[in-house]
Amino acid sequence: MKKEKKLFTMVIFTILLLMPKTIQAATVPVYGYGYAKGISRVSYWIDYSSGTGFYEYLIINAEHNWENPGWTSPVNMVAASSNAGTMLDIYTKPNSFFTSNENVKVLGLTEYFNNSGNLVYPEDQTYAFTRIHINDDTNHNRNATEVQGTIAHEMGHAFGLAHVDDAVSYNKESIMGQSWYRTVQTVQPCDTDALYRLY
Ligand SMILES: [Zn+2]
Repeated sequence: MKKEKKLFTMVIFTILLLMPKTIQAATVPVYGYGYAKGISRVSYWIDYSSGTGFYEYLIINAEHNWENPGWTSPVNMVAASSNAGTMLDIYTKPNSFFTSNENVKVLGLTEYFNNSGNLVYPEDQTYAFTRIHINDDTNHNRNATEVQGTIAHEMGHAFGLAHVDDAVSYNKESIMGQSWYRTVQTVQPCDTDALYRLY
């Protein structure tokens, strides 16, 4: 009897000890600001002239993943045939666009702009539109599921989500984890939770 109680106490203690850490690790940080127009109708355009058509089905998969992750999502995206007034434009670029160091292998990059087309930072202000640049050199021959994960990750940045860089224990189960430690390639509940906090 006494032994059972001790075990019970130990289990409770262990759960309490683990809980705050788990909750903290599951939280996906935001930069601070998001799209001025929100994310209920994100118009997006694919730059076919730079070869982005190669990634079109993965872009659409990532879009559908954000819209219907398996639970309620605040995201809705609409494809546009021109980039006039669109909120998200997707380009493909060679490795040299991302870095002058050929040893550095960037997968993608998201940029933020105001109404005048000037580069802004999502830590400072809301933004009118974003650009996602897919590195064709690092992604062209990569596993399709992982490329889709990278595109969904960059879309998360476009919405205003930051990396889940917890140096103590990386949250591996968030699409906002970086590719080298992320164990998931799809949107997780903690990712949509972060959007509901931001918008
Ligand atoms: Zn990232």
